[in-house]
Amino acid sequence: MKLLIQNGRVVHPVTNAVLLQDLLIEDGKISLLERKLPPEADQIIDASGMVVCPGLVDMHVHLRDPGLTYKEDILTGCAAAARGGVTSMACMANTDPTVDSPELVSYVKNRALEGCGVQVYPIAALSKGLRGEEPTDAEALKKAGAVALSDDGNNVDNANLMRDVLIRASRLGIPVLCHCEDTTMVAGRAVNEGSVSRQLWLEGRPAIAEELVVMRDAMLAEETGAHVHICHVSTAKSVEIIRRMKKKGIAITCETCPQYFTLTEDEVLTQGAMARVNPPLRTAQDVKGIIAGLKDGTIDVIATDHAPHSAEEKARPLTRAPSGMIGLETSLAITLTQLYHTKKMELPAIIRRMTTNPSDILHLPKGRMSLGVDADLTIFDPDEEWVIDPEQFASKARNTPFAGHKVKGRVKYTIVGGRIIYQDA
Ligand SMILES: [Zn+2]
Repeated sequence: MKLLIQNGRVVHPVTNAVLLQDLLIEDGKISLLERKLPPEADQIIDASGMVVCPGLVDMHVHLRDPGLTYKEDILTGCAAAARGGVTSMACMANTDPTVDSPELVSYVKNRALEGCGVQVYPIAALSKGLRGEEPTDAEALKKAGAVALSDDGNNVDNANLMRDVLIRASRLGIPVLCHCEDTTMVAGRAVNEGSVSRQLWLEGRPAIAEELVVMRDAMLAEETGAHVHICHVSTAKSVEIIRRMKKKGIAITCETCPQYFTLTEDEVLTQGAMARVNPPLRTAQDVKGIIAGLKDGTIDVIATDHAPHSAEEKARPLTRAPSGMIGLETSLAITLTQLYHTKKMELPAIIRRMTTNPSDILHLPKGRMSLGVDADLTIFDPDEEWVIDPEQFASKARNTPFAGHKVKGRVKYTIVGGRIIYQDA
């Protein structure tokens, strides 16, 4: 089976080049990549006016399976990913039961094989039951296919446990992904501490709750030599800390999500629980700091933290609704609208943060555009305008604060191993 993709603007995230090239795909791999290829193939895609890039890699997704499948399951999560141009994703362990054993890692992997073709890489819990007490068997989890360790959803309060896990992970060569928010400063609180929390007469989650733990985990990375990856950075000062630590040569990487460079805490005033997320939406100053961090490379990755909840759950009052928002089907469009069309960042730099960088952090054989690699590709029209309508989502969930937003940039084809798994109608 030969697939030819013609006339596209091919983005090479490693070399920063954007070239007019055709791609020939044979046996699931890229076999030719040249200026003009003869139109001989079983199937031809005319990508005129479109961008062709490595398939997007989303390293922070909640698929809610096993146990919470009324919110999402692995199959609907894969379908949502495909619609969003995501060809590989890593899913968090805070399911029910927790993914803290080799059996559950295998369950996630096997279930994903029944999906539409999106590659699913399980992340295993770093503590048993995410309780933050006893470490999991990192070696067995890695052997079963876990690509990283994380108690995401929870902060790891116990510094001794975190240090112990970092030492184990470092020996195994896998990263530890850290959800940084000091529990004593945020427990039971729904929004950022600031003008909005004051207006609503609520106790807030202060920025310092995140920054203290970012600092702690960076220092633990320095001391142990382990690779610490900070999840969903949301404050300007977290970016500053990570920038300084990187300059010292510490093995630290980090991600942010579209909501943190697009929205502020004010969103809570109009959208209530729909804008509730952990860490919370912050201030305009923080949004600026996040964008600066993305531009100068301090922030390595744009992930979604896709966190599905049911309509009933998100209809609850702000203080009683669960935290989180979905993102798989909107992430590329929001990112292009916010960073590319505003001329804040160039395409290769954006695409690198959504492909090569997350892939390298998790040691996946993905995120590259060269001969012989898996033909996992995303083809999108960077200029097509559309309005986000959650009713069109393949996800089971609808909890996005971006409903009704006009965006620019639309996924046209998602290809995994040379097979078209999604095509825009
Ligand atoms: Zn988290």
